[in-house]
Amino acid sequence: MTLQTPVMRMCISCRKPYDRKNLIKITKDQKQGIVFQKGMGRSAYICKSKKCYLDSKIKKKIQKALKTNLNPEFFDIFEKEIASYNDYSNKGI
Ligand SMILES: [Zn+2]
Repeated sequence: MTLQTPVMRMCISCRKPYDRKNLIKITKDQKQGIVFQKGMGRSAYICKSKKCYLDSKIKKKIQKALKTNLNPEFFDIFEKEIASYNDYSNKGI
């Protein structure tokens, strides 16, 4: 195989598989704590569909996926991260 196959990961909200490049990755890094789009460790993926990242239960789902309790500051950062992905919202993903 010469073609690179995309690495698929499941969105924690809609549970559909997507190319990892098109997902928002949240990782519980052992050294850095909770990081976005980087880090090593247990990760949660959310697709760039408004339905998923604006899901009222998304906070619970992230905490469950990462097996950790997240503090309110995390969700402030999360919302800012999400805002930077709003460019995708017009593409009908
Ligand atoms: Zn999704």
